[in-house]
Amino acid sequence: MTADRVYLSPPDIGQLEEDRLVAALRSGWVAPLGPEVDAFERDLAERVGVAHGVALSSGTAGLHLGLIALGVRPGDVVLTSTMTFAATANAIVYTGAEPYFVDADPATGNMDPELLEQALAGVRELGERVGAIVPVDLLGKTADYTAIEEIAAAHGVPVLSDAAESLGATHAGRAAGSFGAASILSFNGNKVMTTSGGGALLTDDGDLAQHVRYLATQARQPVVHYEHTDIGYNYRLSNLLAALGRAQLSRLDEMIARRRALRDRYKRAFGDVTGVEVFGADGDEHDNAWLTSIVVDAEAAGWEPSELSAALAAENIESRPLWKPMHLQPVFAGARGEINGSSKRLFRTGLTLPSGSALRDEQVDRVFAAIDVFLGAR
Ligand SMILES: *Cc1c(COP(=O)(O)O)cnc(C)c1O
Repeated sequence: MTADRVYLSPPDIGQLEEDRLVAALRSGWVAPLGPEVDAFERDLAERVGVAHGVALSSGTAGLHLGLIALGVRPGDVVLTSTMTFAATANAIVYTGAEPYFVDADPATGNMDPELLEQALAGVRELGERVGAIVPVDLLGKTADYTAIEEIAAAHGVPVLSDAAESLGATHAGRAAGSFGAASILSFNGNKVMTTSGGGALLTDDGDLAQHVRYLATQARQPVVHYEHTDIGYNYRLSNLLAALGRAQLSRLDEMIARRRALRDRYKRAFGDVTGVEVFGADGDEHDNAWLTSIVVDAEAAGWEPSELSAALAAENIESRPLWKPMHLQPVFAGARGEINGSSKRLFRTGLTLPSGSALRDEQVDRVFAAIDVFLGAR
């Protein structure tokens, strides 16, 4: 019999989630909205330290409506990280704006503020309008918002923070999800916490929150006969899933602690291995350790990340390269950007390893045993 598959970041769901979900069902609030949604929005805002939360059907929906509510229009340029999941760039395209990709700080994979500055200057010189800047908090480490917010303010461009991966992280003493004019979170199944599919937009701006809530509920005017003056969307989170989200949020710190312990074990396992570094390990007490990756200098190490990946796959253990940068994706071929090769190098040299808080001890032991065998044979 082959051992069960070890995934990178499976959902971490237990008795509490089951109890809260059943309680929400039995309360009768099955129709989409209800008291759990309102409470989840308050819980999220409180956790992150912002005034308002809007619970949505996905992080992608949050990006889409956040951009619209910040005034992004067709024909605008929106600057974003090239090192991200496609959802960030897709949401920009949904608005009719053009994604313009900014390369990464090689230490973190996050948007390089100097390249952002160059990108802004370049686009402005062409006389084009920059609608927004969307930095992404890669693998749970926040972007350098100290630098980015200053640059954005100097150019008068709003920031929408893609904090889909970084709930629980901090930057300069502030929580991920509290930066920019608004931030979005994702509760997809592989994220640090899940609603089995969901997201949120967080902001201190009450009008912005109200506008996003309105657009997400089909842009219904507050009258009984369904009056519409805007194009709306059906992007709200359901009451049942919000109940699941509240249970997960109450366990967030415990789940992050488990991911951190795994990160520490990877640091020990690769500590003296020539040519291998745990990605972003510098200052990692500030990130939520969502996913742990290694970066391999193949010449120094004597092996390629793909070789370790194959050895893990033979033991039914999942591993993956870092996000393939957007400027290298066929669908964004020809897109403009401020590119210096950092993200391409990270894509070639990085490997993401099982990192989830739901991994059982014996699964974790299997991962480290496979790594030991692989390293022992080099
Ligand atoms: C997961 C993710 C999203 C999309 O969130 P969904 O809830 O899956 O729509 C957006 N951006 C980043 C960086 C992500 O990792």
